[in-house]
Amino acid sequence: MTDTPTLPLAGRAADLVGSVIDSSTSLLAKQRHDIVRFAMGSPAPEAIPTHLLAQIGVHEIGAESPDAFDYAATEGDPTLRDALLTELEGTTDATTPERLTITSGGMQGLDLAFKLFVDPGDLVVVESPTYTNGSATARSYQGELLEVPVDAEGVQVDRLEEMVAAVRPPKVIYTIPTFQNPSGASMSLERRHRLLELARQWGSLVIDDDPYGMLRFAGEQLPSLHELADGDPLVLSVRTFSKVIAPGLRVGWVDAAPELQQLLINAKQAMDTCTNLPMQRLIAGFLRAGYLRKHVAVQREVYRQRKVAMQTALAEQLGDRVRWTDPEGGFFLWVTFEDDVDTEALFEVALAEGVAFIPGNAFSPGKHFPNALRVCFAATSPARIHEGVARLRRAVDRVV
Ligand code: PMP
Repeated sequence: MTDTPTLPLAGRAADLVGSVIDSSTSLLAKQRHDIVRFAMGSPAPEAIPTHLLAQIGVHEIGAESPDAFDYAATEGDPTLRDALLTELEGTTDATTPERLTITSGGMQGLDLAFKLFVDPGDLVVVESPTYTNGSATARSYQGELLEVPVDAEGVQVDRLEEMVAAVRPPKVIYTIPTFQNPSGASMSLERRHRLLELARQWGSLVIDDDPYGMLRFAGEQLPSLHELADGDPLVLSVRTFSKVIAPGLRVGWVDAAPELQQLLINAKQAMDTCTNLPMQRLIAGFLRAGYLRKHVAVQREVYRQRKVAMQTALAEQLGDRVRWTDPEGGFFLWVTFEDDVDTEALFEVALAEGVAFIPGNAFSPGKHFPNALRVCFAATSPARIHEGVARLRRAVDRVV
């Protein structure tokens, strides 16, 4: 027998860390069916407008529309670009054709941004906790990550300033300013302004990743970083239809300085040529019919009720052991144990009890949150939320 030859992997292969969140999709697919799923950040299955999408599909991508199955323009099909520009008019994310690039989900927007701005060893600021796949993407380009703590008002900009002063100015600041994944926190207006000031001072790119902004169910709307930047090329915004229509569509967009558009197109051409055209046509039809606003208005109320159900259930079952956040929108609550509970170990027991969540350390490259966890309240009915939290309580009783 000969030894297996060593594969000539690139150095960056070691920096591909994978995603605990995404892996939980395949893990859960193998579990018993009645598991209560607080793990993935998916919209409610019954909230996916399948009937409307199917009807629109007949027109937009039906038998009479073979051109919907061709390659699309890399910057996005004109049907979707036009419908989206109209949809965004008058909102905090309003934009113009030369700033808009359609992408294959929000993830591709993040990948394009980090690819264009991060060389090996560059400093990238991420929030702590942060969205796993975002920090993993920065790392895949061999950025050096600096975790800056988040509190109820978003990333702590004073700490950011102190921490950066002790190292060097970052190349990129990656933030999820609104209903942050995983904490649910939203950055205050004051901090938004200060973050932009610091970015200008340091010459850093701000990646403004905001998939949940449309899903506000309490409090007052804040201007996006995109709006506050007022055309400053240092802000690149990543958006997606995944949370407001459906994640399986895999369609999103990037809003960036016009001078970046050709670079984004060149980079995207080297990745996937164009975004799935049938899905672009489907979404264009959905927007043109005025369904997005109506759909989102209904979903906001559904998610508000589910957040309350989650908080009520946590108070009843685990009120003596945990604290949780109080988001004004989005999908997530961040739950922290008062004492040392290893939530990675708890995860195994919880799965056996029939409930799934994501352990806190998944949201921190430095694993700073061993005793926290993220729950998604959006995908589960209030009755099932109560059942899931009761199961979580049983799991906690078994590990402490
Ligand atoms: N950013 C954040 C903060 C997210 O929560 C998600 C989805 N979980 C994404 C980006 C990726 O979006 P998409 O599924 O459209 O790729």
